[in-house]
Amino acid sequence: MSLLSESFLQRANNADAVDPLAPLAEKFYRREGVNYLLGNSLGPLSKASESSLLRVIEEWKTLGVRGWEAGAEPWFIWTEKLSAQIAQIVGAAPEEAVLANSLTVNLHQLLGTLFKPAGGRQKILTHELTFPSDRYALQGHLGMRGLDPVKNLVTVSSEDGLTLDEDVIIESMSDREVQMAVLPSVLYRSGQLLDLPLLTEAAHERGILIGFDLAHSVGVMPHQLSEWGVDFAFFCTYKFLNGGPGSVGGIYLNKRHFGKAPGLAGWFSAAPEKRFTGHEFLPDCGNALALQTGTPAILSLAPLEGALGITLEAGLEGIREKSLKMTQFLIDGLQNEMKGLGVAIATPLEPERRGGHVAILHDDAANLAKVLRESGVIVDFRAPNLIRIAPSPLFNRFVDCASALGQIKKILTTEGCLGLQGETALVP
Ligand SMILES: *Cc1c(COP(=O)(O)O)cnc(C)c1O
Repeated sequence: MSLLSESFLQRANNADAVDPLAPLAEKFYRREGVNYLLGNSLGPLSKASESSLLRVIEEWKTLGVRGWEAGAEPWFIWTEKLSAQIAQIVGAAPEEAVLANSLTVNLHQLLGTLFKPAGGRQKILTHELTFPSDRYALQGHLGMRGLDPVKNLVTVSSEDGLTLDEDVIIESMSDREVQMAVLPSVLYRSGQLLDLPLLTEAAHERGILIGFDLAHSVGVMPHQLSEWGVDFAFFCTYKFLNGGPGSVGGIYLNKRHFGKAPGLAGWFSAAPEKRFTGHEFLPDCGNALALQTGTPAILSLAPLEGALGITLEAGLEGIREKSLKMTQFLIDGLQNEMKGLGVAIATPLEPERRGGHVAILHDDAANLAKVLRESGVIVDFRAPNLIRIAPSPLFNRFVDCASALGQIKKILTTEGCLGLQGETALVP
């Protein structure tokens, strides 16, 4: 018996009944007794990803090295083929996107390629809520260039510790020593979506290059990176793109930066016919593909072949529409069905400021997340008091969201259910 109102539960059933993406859920593996709501951390396995991965393993077994040229889809062409699909997903021309490396390595690659401290402009603008890996990369890179990582990182602060104000970011751009801004599309904790076109325009008006970390937006909403004139972007593909644990990351490089020598160069920075041509360094530094460095990680690209097909079949507009409906459903449930239970919402309530997940705040969030996971509701906890719920528009149903809310309400209204209260909770 759910503790939620009959009308709210009915709303979930009604939404599922008219959901045009509902049939896609069949394409993924679902486990009995598990309500998986963590599409922003590790997307679920699709049957298509499983078969593209198994196909490559079979080719390795039977063809060995000939797989590079003789596979059903020769491994040599995978990067180009899948990168063109990724370009479509982020709103770029085919040669402006590439799948390679990991998100963090790609940030290093882009800094190495585009950060040119000169003419009194040697600072990078970022913010205080940044994902740790991005901050470490920025600091590390500044240090590598012989620049003081503290003095040369302009860190925009957050008033509430959860969200950023675009006006404050733009004010910080007036520092004339800033050469580059590196910001997120969606903040990984609160799920706030920043106004990328606005920030891009503001940066360019001040002669600043701007790039975005799309980890929490790629695959769950449309982007028009070329149209917006963004300089660069980087992302992972194991979150809403369902590429599997540690799947290959991505880069977007605006055409205007083609021809720049890659900061992290390698034989795959050169065109295929020139990779072995010897000692002349980098015969042609071309488009985004020049940023891939070395041999493509075929086993970590393989699941993407299957997964990207599903995203493209669904279409980014339809995905965003369903995602917003799901997050709205969660927000409405939290606001109307859980009064007096100590739950607050950290995610902006306006749809245009919201990414693909909803973050909730609770004083004992660590234990709440732990008990939820033990009961099969897979969400995650971010210290000290935040829980993220991330429905995948391809995989989840509205009833999954209702069921998670029902479970949260049950835990919070059952005395002693958060039994570890007061003790140091283990991070689940
Ligand atoms: C997931 C995530 C990362 C992870 O980077 P990897 O190099 O793939 O480990 C980085 N930044 C943000 C904002 C993320 O959400």
